[in-house]
Amino acid sequence: MKTTYFRFDLGIRSLLPQWRLLIGKLYWREDFFAGLTLALVAVPLSLAIALASGVDPAIGLITAIVAGIVCALFGGNSISVSGPAAAMAVMVGLAVEKYGMSGLIFIGIICGLLQIATGVFGLGRFVRLMPIAVIEGFTAGIGAIILIAQLPRAFGLPAPSESHTIDVLVHIGTLIDESKGAPVLVAVGVIFLLWIIPKISSKIPSPLIAIAVPSMLAAYFFEGQLLLIGEIPRSLPLPSFPVWPSGISWIELLGTAVLIYALASLETLLSSTAVDKLVRGQHSDLDQELIGQGLGNLVVPFFGGIPVTGVIVRSATNVMAGAKTRRSSIIHSLILVATVLLLAPLISQIPIAALAGLLLSIAARMMNPEKFINLWNLSRSDAAVYGITFLVIVFVDLLQGVQWGLVAALAVVALQLGRTRVQFYGSGSGSSGSYRFELQGPLTFLSSLKIDELKSHVAELDGGRGITIDMHAVTEIDGSGAEMLLELIHELLERGLKVAVLDLPEKEKAFLISADSSGRISKLIASTEQELMQILEGSISGDPALRLEKGLNRFLKDERHRYKKLFGELAHGQSPHTLFITCSDSRIQPNLMTSTDPGELFIVRNVGNMIPKCAEGEVFAESAAVDFAVGILGVREIVVCGHSSCGAMQALHGRQELPSNLKNLEAWRKATVQNEAYHSLPAAMPIDEVARINALHQLDNLRSYPLVREKEQAGVLKLHAWFFEIANGEVEIWSSDRKKYFRHSESLKMRN
Ligand code: ZN
Repeated sequence: MKTTYFRFDLGIRSLLPQWRLLIGKLYWREDFFAGLTLALVAVPLSLAIALASGVDPAIGLITAIVAGIVCALFGGNSISVSGPAAAMAVMVGLAVEKYGMSGLIFIGIICGLLQIATGVFGLGRFVRLMPIAVIEGFTAGIGAIILIAQLPRAFGLPAPSESHTIDVLVHIGTLIDESKGAPVLVAVGVIFLLWIIPKISSKIPSPLIAIAVPSMLAAYFFEGQLLLIGEIPRSLPLPSFPVWPSGISWIELLGTAVLIYALASLETLLSSTAVDKLVRGQHSDLDQELIGQGLGNLVVPFFGGIPVTGVIVRSATNVMAGAKTRRSSIIHSLILVATVLLLAPLISQIPIAALAGLLLSIAARMMNPEKFINLWNLSRSDAAVYGITFLVIVFVDLLQGVQWGLVAALAVVALQLGRTRVQFYGSGSGSSGSYRFELQGPLTFLSSLKIDELKSHVAELDGGRGITIDMHAVTEIDGSGAEMLLELIHELLERGLKVAVLDLPEKEKAFLISADSSGRISKLIASTEQELMQILEGSISGDPALRLEKGLNRFLKDERHRYKKLFGELAHGQSPHTLFITCSDSRIQPNLMTSTDPGELFIVRNVGNMIPKCAEGEVFAESAAVDFAVGILGVREIVVCGHSSCGAMQALHGRQELPSNLKNLEAWRKATVQNEAYHSLPAAMPIDEVARINALHQLDNLRSYPLVREKEQAGVLKLHAWFFEIANGEVEIWSSDRKKYFRHSESLKMRN
């Protein structure tokens, strides 16, 4: 994990190399082209978003110019573009309505300072703590509000006196007969062009063409019939110190500023995540991005601009146009400056209806129903959170929408985390066969409905059978949960079933036993197969045949279903990845200790995990197995696994007397001692050490097989020596670099 550090230098030290690139020789052509494309897109978008935010369109351009330079210089990646954002428009509009332009200026400054602080102290990651369903419901809600708010403009109706969605809808409803043809035609023309141009070519800056063409046609055909943007200043404002607006409460303004800060930061996060997806190998530095945004928001107000965020469409345009450095955003700002200075008269001729058309199209994209459909398919509860957020934002209030969305999302999480699930397996008929419940998730007061359901199920079970309650997937038990489980068990016992509780975690086990006043439960808890059998079948340890039979039954009835698909696939053939050579000792379980499934390990077992040297004229099953595994199955790993207190090592090294009737064993010992040179090891060497050396020795023997040697040298086969410590179930692995066995748990620790 990255360590957090405070960036009291605003990240400048780490930005210096990138700033040096700006004055370097590279990428001027790419960045200029990208900056130009960006400016062509940014002019209409900035004008339109300013309109939607309830401020003069010209302010949109000023904002884009300042943010385009400041945020680009200090941001967390080199491609993101910042400026006035549609997602912020409704919030900014409300702030302007309430506090006026001079109040908004202070809101921008506070928002900027908060963002800078967040970035400097490395808290950017907390911005992520927002459920996706709320974010998407919010975005769609803003889209709907913008859409509805722009309809009067598109219909050429007078502006409504109230900005609330319902008021606007009523306003439109009463005045719809007065709508005029010219603005509708212009708006529809813009929407049509925005839809058709990207289908023709993704290179054309569609917003510009979509605004310019209808505007020119309208100027010719509908002269004087359309409301225009009107005069915009042909100069840039000089920075000025803002004046505190009179009659406004600090506290309220601060509250709004905090909201805008939260929203702008979240929007920026979304934008940089989107940009990271477009640029291969790029990971935005979120804290730095917030510092960049904060500085932008701090400087913009001094030029009379509105709060900014990272903006997705312009950033994506920048990427597509081939931008290479932070220079392209700065060039975009300079072109915007030139536009204001040179083309102000032309911009003033743009009809408001054209900008409304552009906003309608942006709003429709924000409302993207596909997102809702995806959520619906993925999770109904997420879709509900989306729906609540959306509806409350559109019809009640922006802030309340987010609050309700968050409450709904938390409720969903609480319910999901608290949900107990039950799997039931039953088999056999009459009094033979067994039942099995698997409880999953937490067992708490929230589980009572589920346990009641189980109880009604229990009433139908045949008495006299065994029932296993498998608890391995239970994550937590509280007092009510323990009570309910005990009740269930007692009910089962009363019905004459034999109950075993399997795999109860230690903590939960102690808890359950202490909650049980009858004292019966402690005898019903099993943690191994043998204990389980003991409880369900009575004592079986004396009869191995019965043990095997019960084991077969249990596999058949309880476990086989888990492997059905796997065995179905394995029926067509095996392709194990590893040849696993180990001792016949009953305490070694290759699949258990490697958590592998059937089909993964090709296992060779014999006394002492030995592989004979490759020798012509001699026949060994082990040699044949090596040929088969390496030559035909094509395993990529060979593991030789010795183990502690190995009887074979004892026999070879300890040289104790063997009973005289074990001629085979004696012959094996003689031959092996001869071949493997055990006599050369010091007599005082502990047996476990002999086992470790023996495993290494088998690697040498394996390398005497030409096929093994060739494949190992080609790097397609690896050989490993392992040593299994039975007492603590730990595996030691030989490190050929450090000439030492290392416990796997320790090497894990070293790696982390
Ligand atoms: Zn052994």
